Amino acid sequence: MSFIVAIDGPAGSGKGTIAKLVADDLGFLTMDTGAMYRCVTVYFIENQISLEEEEKVENSLEKIQIDMKDIDGTQNFFLNGENVSTKIRTKEVDSLVSQVSHLVPVRLAMVHLQRKLAEGKKIIMEGRDIGTNVFPNADVKIYLDATPEERARRRMEQNKAKGINNISFEEILENVKFRDYNDMTSSVAPLKKAEDAITVDSSNLTIPQVVERVENIIKERM
Ligand code: C5P
Repeated sequence: MSFIVAIDGPAGSGKGTIAKLVADDLGFLTMDTGAMYRCVTVYFIENQISLEEEEKVENSLEKIQIDMKDIDGTQNFFLNGENVSTKIRTKEVDSLVSQVSHLVPVRLAMVHLQRKLAEGKKIIMEGRDIGTNVFPNADVKIYLDATPEERARRRMEQNKAKGINNISFEEILENVKFRDYNDMTSSVAPLKKAEDAITVDSSNLTIPQVVERVENIIKERM
């Protein structure tokens, strides 16, 4: 049975953490669509493909294969067979990924892949445009929000846990705001709440409280 839960929202709103916990509880798969755009960004950086070179961008998309695999309960991302799960979280990728994700051919390729991978599954998909564009008929749509400061604080903690200590809070906050601006003003699939999405503001909620709220919303519709 197919059941699609779309969780959209800005960078650092907790989509990844919440999606994983809820999926484990309710027996869903998860898909981090942001990580896919990050994989493409890594490919462009490593192959020195400038975003202005439209033809090169389009041609290179045919050479990019992205796979996801669960390793010890964590979703790992493979770019043409190489595990790039750490590489996709660097500062360089952080500052380029938004622009990459707004290139029309990149967007088309990723949305196509996302729809194909989710087909027939019980899955929680997290991103920016899942409820508005990728699956406008998703069974459940949640818009997860939090203040920029709270989101920057969380990203800082995530980085620390991953051993990334060379990015300051100010840099992260600036990047969060920069990406919000880019994501919300993009002419290609801008980040916005789907009309029929339910907003969950996590700024003043604990993780278990957000999980409970999201699970209740899903259970009501299952
Ligand atoms: O979620 P994360 O911050 O890893 O996403 C990285 C970037 O990918 C976002 O800033 C956004 O520009 C882009 N993205 C997107 N559509 C999605 C998921 C992410 O444009 N569905």
